[in-house]
Amino acid sequence: MTKPIVIIGAGFGGLSAAIRLRARGWPVVVLEAGDQAGGRGRVFERDGHSFDAGPTVITAPYLIEELFNLLGRNLDDYVDLVPVDPFYRVRFHDGGHFDYTQDEERLLPQIKDINPRDVDGYLAMAEHSKRIFEIGYEQLAHVPFDSVMDMIRVAPHMMRLGNYKSVYSMVASYIKDERLRQVFTFQPLLIGGNPFTASSIYLLIHWLERKWGVWFPKGGTHALVKAMVQVLAEVDVPVHMNSPVEEILVSNGKATGVRLENGEVIEASHVVSNADPSFTYGQLIKSEHRSKHSDRRVKNVRQSMGLFVGYFGAEGDYNDDVMHHEILLGPRYKGLLNDIFNRRVLTDDFSLYLHQPTRTDPSLAPEGKSSFYVLSPVPNQKSGIDWDQEGEAYFDRILEHLEGRLMPGLRDRITTKFHVTPRYFEEELRTPDGAGFGPEPTLTQSAWFRYHNRSEDVEGLFFVGAGTHPGAGVPGVISSAKVLDRVVPDPKLAIPLPSQVLGRVAK
Ligand SMILES: Cc1cc2nc3c(=O)[nH]c(=O)nc-3n(C[C@H](O)[C@H](O)[C@H](O)COP(=O)(O)OP(=O)(O)OC[C@H]3O[C@@H](n4cnc5c(N)ncnc54)[C@H](O)[C@@H]3O)c2cc1C
Repeated sequence: MTKPIVIIGAGFGGLSAAIRLRARGWPVVVLEAGDQAGGRGRVFERDGHSFDAGPTVITAPYLIEELFNLLGRNLDDYVDLVPVDPFYRVRFHDGGHFDYTQDEERLLPQIKDINPRDVDGYLAMAEHSKRIFEIGYEQLAHVPFDSVMDMIRVAPHMMRLGNYKSVYSMVASYIKDERLRQVFTFQPLLIGGNPFTASSIYLLIHWLERKWGVWFPKGGTHALVKAMVQVLAEVDVPVHMNSPVEEILVSNGKATGVRLENGEVIEASHVVSNADPSFTYGQLIKSEHRSKHSDRRVKNVRQSMGLFVGYFGAEGDYNDDVMHHEILLGPRYKGLLNDIFNRRVLTDDFSLYLHQPTRTDPSLAPEGKSSFYVLSPVPNQKSGIDWDQEGEAYFDRILEHLEGRLMPGLRDRITTKFHVTPRYFEEELRTPDGAGFGPEPTLTQSAWFRYHNRSEDVEGLFFVGAGTHPGAGVPGVISSAKVLDRVVPDPKLAIPLPSQVLGRVAK
């Protein structure tokens, strides 16, 4: 009998890989260390509120539809995705805001109001973003990027498109107003990049959002996770929770299975790791099996920033004033990012992302209440910040700021609250340095320079997820699973999918 492919981790990357490999006829087993699937996309249920822990901005939904279609299902039989408009309301520190939308006819007058001379600049920048998208996304996101020839093939295009420049300097070459520059450069932060150092290849995010929009699943992002686990159950793929893998077993240079922390051994034909690649090489594979990814090399990977996320439920709602997605820019931009990414100090000021899912789906809170989360990029664990000491006070400062700026009376209306810090990412999600998004997407850690989807050290070991090509964010990690179609061979004896639909997730 064909041994299964074992997938370590049930994040969006691991679940997508399981679907794709099962669709090709492989038997698949998913092992998740935590007590629920989703990884960063898990859910926290508190006092009747449902808080998505991480991803909330769903872009390129066709990637998820594709997964369900591979198994002969339709996504919309499982989850309702609704468009979110505006994508974000970006609020400037000195007052005023910008509604970032898909609709050019609404974008241009807002740009004109801020600086009429930037209208043409924006149009040229959007065109540039489209050209990067056509190469960086359409041609490269779903294919392996593990031979130096791949790099040589695309390097001239990348050079021509100026991908050696940062996102900020590229946008600044088109747009003069500092507020507008911030509106069109914060996007790399959503995948762990500093706009001042992330390669302008990530300017493609702008076109990706404009092309496919921003969506939210009814029931929250976790409804997507639930649906993926359900559809896997329908095709006989078990997702085992509370099953941390301690070691990837290697014999004669080939992955042969895994050993769980409880000692159980599961033999495998191939192993796919959705755990962070630095963690996988550094902690799950004995050093004698690694020649390229030595401990030293793994430690030298520069990890992205950390995240502080405060979740809270409140009486009533703020629907009149607060959009579903809000970006609250602080008084400093470059200086703040430098403090977070390079100086690694906790600052008195912040720029925030505020999520109000109950504006789109009131069922995520008890009757008469609403649910929120507020995210603040912070230094990763390399900073040495003692979050047990700082966390509560930091959250209070953020709530005070929200109350003064946007949500009057907030602190008296809060009925439940808790937070996570980079410690959660380090300890519960097993991410080196407690990084929010895995390795930082700098030029020298992107494309060919990122962890490859096929291990060079261990035959039959593959990677999916934020740390590998193409990178973080839900579309990125789903695309990383697509790469497996090219690098994992077909099974000798394909196991057909059960023809019958066994059941559906209640919408
Ligand atoms: C707060 C926050 C907000 C975000 N917002 C957005 C957004 O709006 N839109 C967007 O597109 N992206 C967003 N992102 C990024 C996106 O969530 C991630 O890039 C993506 O979910 C990562 O998926 P993954 O599969 O790579 O990894 P993860 O979600 O980290 O999953 C990896 C899984 O592997 C498991 N694991 C690790 N080690 C082991 C082991 N030894 N044994 C078994 N299991 C193991 C972990 O427990 C985890 O469940 C956000 C991220 C965060 C943190």
